[in-house]
Amino acid sequence: MIARRTVLKGAVAAGAGLALQGCAGEAEPPSPPVQDAAGHLVWRNWSGHLHSYPAERSAPASEEAVAELLRRAPTPIRPVGAGHSFTPLVPTEGTLVTLDGLTGVVAHDAQRLRATVRAGTRLGDLGSALAALGQEMPNLPDVNKQSLAGALSTATHGTGRAYKALHGDAVAFRIATPAGGLVDCDATRNPELFQAARVGLGAFGVLTQVTLQNAALTRVKKRVEPRPLADVLEEWPALVAKHRNVEFFAVPFTGIAATITVDEVTEAVRPRGRDEDAGILMELKRLRDWTSWLPSVRRGIAQKVLAAGIHPTEAVDEGWKLLSNERPIRFNEMEYHVPFEVQVLALREVVAAIEAHCPDVFFPVEARVIAADDAWLSPFYGRLSGSIAVHAYYKDDHRFFFDLVEPILRRYDGRPHWGKMHSLKAADLAALYPKFEDARRVRASVDPAGRMLNGYLREVFGA
Ligand SMILES: Cc1cc2nc3c(=O)[nH]c(=O)nc-3n(C[C@H](O)[C@H](O)[C@H](O)COP(=O)(O)OP(=O)(O)OC[C@H]3O[C@@H](n4cnc5c(N)ncnc54)[C@H](O)[C@@H]3O)c2cc1C
Repeated sequence: MIARRTVLKGAVAAGAGLALQGCAGEAEPPSPPVQDAAGHLVWRNWSGHLHSYPAERSAPASEEAVAELLRRAPTPIRPVGAGHSFTPLVPTEGTLVTLDGLTGVVAHDAQRLRATVRAGTRLGDLGSALAALGQEMPNLPDVNKQSLAGALSTATHGTGRAYKALHGDAVAFRIATPAGGLVDCDATRNPELFQAARVGLGAFGVLTQVTLQNAALTRVKKRVEPRPLADVLEEWPALVAKHRNVEFFAVPFTGIAATITVDEVTEAVRPRGRDEDAGILMELKRLRDWTSWLPSVRRGIAQKVLAAGIHPTEAVDEGWKLLSNERPIRFNEMEYHVPFEVQVLALREVVAAIEAHCPDVFFPVEARVIAADDAWLSPFYGRLSGSIAVHAYYKDDHRFFFDLVEPILRRYDGRPHWGKMHSLKAADLAALYPKFEDARRVRASVDPAGRMLNGYLREVFGA
């Protein structure tokens, strides 16, 4: 993404006199046993910090098979997509159900640019399938490995003032309920279940298909540019107003940010080059390691070397090919969504706190903007939101998310991303979500016995 001119060659020279020391907190997390005592195989999430031993695993190949499974399977029954969530929504000692056998486009409406898609379809596969129909999803998240149902169920989002999170463009869905029925929902058919389960955490049943309001295939230019963080923070509202999609990654201890903008163009296609983010990230890690005993050196080296070594890149192509990225380096993450008006204030505090207390952090802090919607459990319910995401290398301690960052973001009235780490329970959530009680009522009506609830979801719903 950002082209790199052997960034660390300069850093090596600048840091030649420094001892090469690893970061104190870095350690490979212990791997859980592959099987439990009963012989059940382990399931782990993408980052590796969550695991469980489901007694039963199922990959139904039809909607009827999903409904039948829900009637009889050992509980808790937990649907899983790509396992990319950081919160324990999926772990179960009961039944793990994947919709990997229910993928692809079922039908489409060329006039209205809509497509009905089986819920297990991965976003990456959906891109090319929709493109063949002249459609694309209006916006996409940072990666496209997620299943459609998994992405909708946690309010997965991209960025752009006029762009809702993915569930905002889901105009209908079919859900297999814990009672074993298949129920069609939209704004007029079962409207309460539609509003409650559009961002449903897999707690209302299993989504089997979703109708998406798509956009026509659009050619866009994506530009990635390193800039002084102070300038980006100053200009953020103007950048948000100017660009179709815009975000930035603020690199702590460097005073540098990388902005990513995406705008519609009619220029000739210039396909994206090789994604170099992972290389840059590892160089930031090495810089962290080298300067861990003398953090004041870090900023100086970073500003000299990174600013000179990284130059802007551009690509022009259809949006679905450019919006998402590859993220091969594992991390853990917390993300909160605050009212847009206070996003810069909150972000300044977060970066200052990290720089004051967390010399181990080398992952950037990510800022995006998301349009309001009306799904009851959407973190964007009723407000234009600015998201702030902090990351920790998977081998590093991530307790600072909770001790340092979360209190700041809560002070700014932040609502947590459902799929990313947070410590909120039902009482906290009820205070943040005007329709939380309605969502709880609808959830209890479709699943009175709590067949979908693992221990974590019981805390979330206070059930
Ligand atoms: C590298 C990386 C990058 C990310 N980038 C972004 C980003 O840019 N923006 C963003 O908002 N988030 C992002 N996320 C978070 C991610 O999009 C969400 O956690 C998403 O829910 C993961 O989708 P999944 O298919 O892996 O679902 P899982 O994590 O497997 O499950 C998520 C939830 O969906 C439920 N679910 C799964 N299938 C069904 C079904 N058929 N019916 C009902 N419920 C179901 C599960 O029970 C669970 O509650 C990222 C995560 C990672 C690891």
